[in-house]
Parts: sequence; C-alpha cells; structure tokens
Amino acid sequence: MTSPALQRVTVLGSTGSIGKSTLDVIARHPERYRVFALAAHTSKEALFEQCQAHHPEVAVLAGADDAAWLARALEDAGLSTQVSFGAEALCAVARDERVDTVMAAIVGAAGLMPALAAAEAGKRILLANKEALVMSGALFMDAVARSNATLLPIDSEHNAIYQCLPAEHRGGLARHGVRKLLLTASGGPFRQWSAADIDAATPEQACAHPNWSMGRKISVDSATLMNKGLELIEACWLFDAHPDHIQVVVHPQSVVHSMAAFDDGSVIAQLGNPDMRTPIAYGLAWPERIDSGVETLDLFQIARLDFEAPDEVRFPCLRLAREAMQQGGAAPAILNAANEVAVEAFLSGQLRFGGIAEVVAGVVQAPHAHRADSVEAILAADQWAREQASLLLETARSSENQTGG
Ligand code: NAD
Ligand code: MG
Repeated sequence: MTSPALQRVTVLGSTGSIGKSTLDVIARHPERYRVFALAAHTSKEALFEQCQAHHPEVAVLAGADDAAWLARALEDAGLSTQVSFGAEALCAVARDERVDTVMAAIVGAAGLMPALAAAEAGKRILLANKEALVMSGALFMDAVARSNATLLPIDSEHNAIYQCLPAEHRGGLARHGVRKLLLTASGGPFRQWSAADIDAATPEQACAHPNWSMGRKISVDSATLMNKGLELIEACWLFDAHPDHIQVVVHPQSVVHSMAAFDDGSVIAQLGNPDMRTPIAYGLAWPERIDSGVETLDLFQIARLDFEAPDEVRFPCLRLAREAMQQGGAAPAILNAANEVAVEAFLSGQLRFGGIAEVVAGVVQAPHAHRADSVEAILAADQWAREQASLLLETARSSENQTGG
C-alpha cells in the first residue's frame, strides 16, 4: 500500500475550540499531516505552547507587541518558527504555495479575508468559520469554483449533510432527487425556558451548552438559535439550496447531526457522538477516513432520539436569519455584523440576553443601499451594521439609565 501524500496545514484560530481539536487530530497522524502555520488573536502563551508541540514554519498573532514577545520566546526555546502579525499575515499563511489545507477556524468576520484568500488560492478549505460564508456567500462560492478549491464543511450539521448527499451534489438539490435538508439543532440551554427567563439569562447560563463545548460567541449563538440561522444561510450556499428547502429540527440529544430527505421517501442521516473531531477528521482525510479519537456511538446508552419543531417566538433570531437570506444581497452580512456586536455587548454585561434579537432586528430593518457584489462592498455593509448596532446599544443603555433614575 502506498502511503498518503503529506498535507501541509495552516490552522487559523489554532488556540480556539476548533483549532485545538484540529491539532489533536493532526497529532494522531504525523505521517499524513504537517503543520505549516498556526494563527491566533492575542493568546500568545497558548500559541507558544502549540509551536513547541507542532513546530510550524510560521506563527501569526494580531498585534506587533504580542508577536515580538512570541518571537523572543521561540528563539529562547531554540525554535526556528517565523513570527508575523496582522490581517495581511493571516492571508499570507492561507494562500502560501507551500500550504495544501487551510482550517478556517477564526471566529466571526475577522476570518473572512484569510478564508477568501485560501479559496482564491485553490486550497483544500476546512470551513468552520461560518460567519465568513454568511457574509460573502456568492463571492466565496465563486472564488472556490474559479480556483478549483475543495471546500469541506466542518460545522457538524453541514458536514453531516455533505456525508449524506451524493458526491456530485452541486447544481441544485432537485437534480439529485433531494427534496429537503433537515438541519438539526440541540435547542441550546434555554430550550425549555420561559420567555421571561430567557430574556434575563446571564452569560454563564448562555455559555453552558448541554452537549457541545465551544467558544463563547458560538455558545451564545446556540442559545439564541442565531447559530441555527447562520447555519441555514451557510447550508443555502454550500448546497445550492433555497431556504424553503431547509427544515430546522430540534433534536436535544445532538446525536443525529443532520439529514437529507430524498424524492423516494428515504431520509439519510449521519450520527455520532457530539465531538468536533469527527467532522474535522473527515475534512482532513476526505475522501478517506481516519481515526479521530472519538468513540463509536453507543446506541444502547443513547436509548432514544427526540425531535421537535423550533419555537421562533421565544427564539426570533432563527426567523431573522431566514428573512435575511430570503432578502439576499448584503442582508446576511448585516445580520451577522449586528449579531457580533450584540453578542459582544451581552458577554460584557452591556446588554440583556433578550436584547440580542432586538438589536439584530433593529439593524436589519433599517433602510440601506448596501450591496454584496465585491468584498469592499461587503466590508462596508459590515461596518455600517456595526455602527447601527452600536447606536441601538447606546439608545437602549440611556433609556435603561433613565428608567432606573
Ligand atoms: P473560539 O473562540 O474558541 O476560538 C476562536 C479562535 O479565533 C481563537 O484561536 C482566536 O485566537 C482566533 N481569533 C479570534 N479573533 C481573531 C482575529 N481577529 N484574528 C486572528 N485570530 C482570531 O471559537 P470556536 O468555538 O473554535 O469557533 C471558531 C469558528 O468555528 C466559529 O466561526 C464557529 O462558529 C465555528 N464553529 C465552531 C464549533 C465548535 O464546536 N466550537 C462548531 C461549529 C462551528
Ligand atoms: Mg453547527
């Protein structure tokens, strides 16, 4: 048997939840994968430790001071890793010709430009950073098609659907006999809470996800169901699907990761323990399969699988996202930016949990003439939405202060 070709991998967002799981899978297969670059925002100590374990060619941080600290620490440790910093350095390690595979696992809009750089450079892109695709859908998919890049979804639901669809599924689902995509959702920590309790939920409660351990931003998104809304948009782009052909199904056990329903009545599902190393290993090895470190599902222990419809009254973010996708153009980028600002305000104690959906609704309803036909236009829409969201936050704060006397 011939040994597999060595893949050189850039991990964007290596110190995050997905980044760490990616390095865990990579470390299990040194004959297959070599880390080319690791990139993080400000976690310099964590990045230093990862450099000691994985010996990348390049390490990237956001700021010059952190980068200088890391360069010194690496030199003292006798490592030859080059250190660079800033937004352009992220794009450089994503498009470097020595790189085969890019794990896009930065959280939020900050990941857009490097993910796009990987797409333009024809890499194998493992896409965890759903916000990048939500913002730039058409542009991103065009870049992938033009450069013949391989785009493999890492989001567990989209990875599941990818596994359920025929290999050549591009060009519209109907052509392949697919009637519907069934996007499963855990329902988040507040699935059974009353509207009043949800409104007053704290960051700690929102980040305590029942099944998945994730970064704080996506944990809050899972609690508002905005995560499922962003995933609905993500699925439309990845699978050429219309929003009407995607049904969100709340499934509290998070064992069925999503499904495809076909014209003949078949429903194909992908199941597994809720551990992101499964989709990550799938993306790294596709079309082969490798050990991810995840145990096989024990169905006797699971015993039952429940399904219910989502409640868009208690969780309006799901509806807001669907409407943004139906509207098209810059609307998804605007929704995403408003949500990022609102989630940050919530996490820093500046906004009630219930205020997240209010801020997003206020921004997506404001009139605008933004377009999504170039990356500059998308970034302008993103910037505008952030300003609108900040204005709404200020108004909300001053009226609360007045009420509070
Ligand atoms: P996280 O907060 O744990 O990690 C984010 C990573 O991005 C960190 O390494 C951080 O240093 C880096 N980062 C943040 N801002 C940056 C910037 N401006 N420049 C450079 N690096 C930056 O987040 P996560 O949970 O790992 O999620 C990452 C992405 O994957 C998100 O888009 C999320 O929606 C998606 N995702 C995560 C999961 C999960 O289980 N965690 C599942 C599906 C999809
Ligand atoms: Mg998901």
